[in-house]
Amino acid sequence: MSSDVAGQTCISPDCGKPAKLQCPTCLKQGISGSFFCSQECFKSNWATHKTKHKAKEVAPHDPFKNYRYTGALRARYPLSPKRHVPENIQRPDYSETGIPVSEQRVRGSSVIRSLSPEEIVKMRKVCQITREVLDAGAAAVRPGITTDEIDRIVHEATIERGAYPSPLNYYNFPKSCCTSVNEVICHGIPDQRPLKEGDIVNLDISCFFEGYHGDLNATYLVGDVDEKGRKLVDTARECLQKAIDMAKPGVRYRDFGKVIEDHAKQNGFSVVRTFCGHGINDLFHGAPNVPHYANNKAIGVLKPGHTFTIEPMICEGTWRDELWPDNWTAVTVDGRRSAQFEHTLLVTDDGIEILT
Ligand SMILES: [Zn+2]
Ligand SMILES: [Zn+2]
Repeated sequence: MSSDVAGQTCISPDCGKPAKLQCPTCLKQGISGSFFCSQECFKSNWATHKTKHKAKEVAPHDPFKNYRYTGALRARYPLSPKRHVPENIQRPDYSETGIPVSEQRVRGSSVIRSLSPEEIVKMRKVCQITREVLDAGAAAVRPGITTDEIDRIVHEATIERGAYPSPLNYYNFPKSCCTSVNEVICHGIPDQRPLKEGDIVNLDISCFFEGYHGDLNATYLVGDVDEKGRKLVDTARECLQKAIDMAKPGVRYRDFGKVIEDHAKQNGFSVVRTFCGHGINDLFHGAPNVPHYANNKAIGVLKPGHTFTIEPMICEGTWRDELWPDNWTAVTVDGRRSAQFEHTLLVTDDGIEILT
């Protein structure tokens, strides 16, 4: 112990004995005084004494610290707290644990379920809700609004309808929808960044109601968007439409990719390969897998009663993607923009019904 202690008195109230030690935390933090006669006095005063110490500065967790962004967009933390879902709303199996056990049970299976008439009624209902929620979110898109605020609007529109926002806690996804801006291909996490004039933003909405999921997304222009950006968004919408136009019983799930990629290429754009459309019913994601690129090996033929999504992601530059360190946000590796549209579809006896 340093000689500074010599001649000092214990600061413990009503003690007055000569000091023999000084609080080590105070020494380290450069706080003067803090002399005690003994370990006993030091310990018995600890609860009040420790309040003199400076709060340790805990740097907020920043997974992006050493990350080299591919484009101009930046994550804007902290995320808002997890939103509440009223107790009376029916939840999917992953809502507490983050793990969709029912999906994992059939993982790897390429069996495509045909839904019963009763199930189809429920799919129509949840997809109608999903559409209404997307429209509520879309109505809020404007320069200056944060994607977190859009998420709040989406969350409230969802629970107002008695539905659960399917993305919330799905594999621990932290928010109630995905908001994908500019170079974000998909799965962007709503955060504190305000939308800017000239951005494009995709809102991907999924709802769970009476045991079934609906899934729908669209890309919106924020204020004035340059011509190339508008062409990208138009092309992505057209790609989805062209795929829907050819859908009917007997068509193979692998056949959509060529139509989509041909149209994207004709307009000078590319097609994302990592993320695909999917079967959707009482499971958020299941068979079939629906690639959007040509020459894919997808398994399965459209049959009445199948419900699935098509959701092409079309890119200005390269289709190659990487993940942000949040492990969700998929961006183009060249930082150029990507646009997407999605519908949930039902195969009917002689064609297709757009449920969303
Ligand atoms: Zn979606
Ligand atoms: Zn989807």
